[in-house]
Amino acid sequence: MSVLDLARPEIRALQPYSSARMEAGGGQIFLNANESAWAPAGDDELGCNRYPEPQPAALVSTLAALYGLRHEQLLVGRGSDEAIDLLVRAFCRAGEDAILIQPPTFGMYSVCAHVQNAAVIEVPLADDFTLDVDELLAAVTPAVKLIFVCTPNNPSGQYVPRENIERVLQALDGRALLVVDEAYVEFAYERSVADLIDRYEYLAVLRTLSKAWALAGARIGCVLGNPAVIALLRRIMAPYPVPLPCVAAAMAALSEAGQMQARERLAVLRNEHERVRGALATLACVQAVLPSQANFLAVRFHDAGAIYQHLLAAGIVVRDIRRYPKLGDALRITIGTPAENDAMLAVLQESTP
Ligand code: PMP
Repeated sequence: MSVLDLARPEIRALQPYSSARMEAGGGQIFLNANESAWAPAGDDELGCNRYPEPQPAALVSTLAALYGLRHEQLLVGRGSDEAIDLLVRAFCRAGEDAILIQPPTFGMYSVCAHVQNAAVIEVPLADDFTLDVDELLAAVTPAVKLIFVCTPNNPSGQYVPRENIERVLQALDGRALLVVDEAYVEFAYERSVADLIDRYEYLAVLRTLSKAWALAGARIGCVLGNPAVIALLRRIMAPYPVPLPCVAAAMAALSEAGQMQARERLAVLRNEHERVRGALATLACVQAVLPSQANFLAVRFHDAGAIYQHLLAAGIVVRDIRRYPKLGDALRITIGTPAENDAMLAVLQESTP
């Protein structure tokens, strides 16, 4: 038995598209891909007249080193949003298979499942937003191919302890692929579970450069996992998923100087997180600030709708998360710069409950 047995048979059998860039060996004169021979106006360095490498080697090496894995355990694409979509399309047969999620959680898991016409099985988090491993395992039917666990969870902010991830993997014993979405893990005081990939064939981890690496606009994210899963996802991925300017932006952000800057910003962010949490907790309009290990706080207000409008009138946009189960009258507030946080707190200080 292998993890590929969970995948859609037609995807396993698919003859993938072979791009000109993949077929080309060496050479200096490229007349193979119907590209323009001339760089576009203003492009003196990137050479955007040529298609990019399907998996840009320098970026893959840098990311593999960053995450402590081998190249063949990593697929880079357009944000972890694309990774979620690829996983659902590769593993879930329309009208037959299912994913399992724990609401309240990130909305793209169920959106991708619905696009694929896969069912969505929900095992809600407990009232304190912890994950009940036994309940989750009891809900795994043969139709469930993917289990998404988001840690730290968006939008509640809680972290799922590593022991629980391992317990799920051990008890699942290959019945489904566990996808641990670590979009916010850099902000957490816990470490990634990516190192478990060497031990568990049925584990995939999602990482992104959109948050701690400040590259949401470049759309770079990764699936980390078993090489067989990575190779399978490559079959259904668009031929050239990572544009050249995005590769350049990522390489700069991940350079030595970029890494130092990211560490400094993380320290600022953690301080701000604590400061904002403390300040919010004293406000009359606030009911509770949920514990968070991410770069945002889920905050219960006495009247979240009024607070949302009050902030908006001052030009401050937060996320209305009242539609999610269990969160109650809550808004999600991203930690910004110290000045942005001060501006937000000043508006809330004027708000009556
Ligand atoms: N996972 C989670 C939990 C998220 O909150 C987000 C973005 N909000 C994503 C994945 C997608 O991130 P990206 O596509 O930018 O990598």
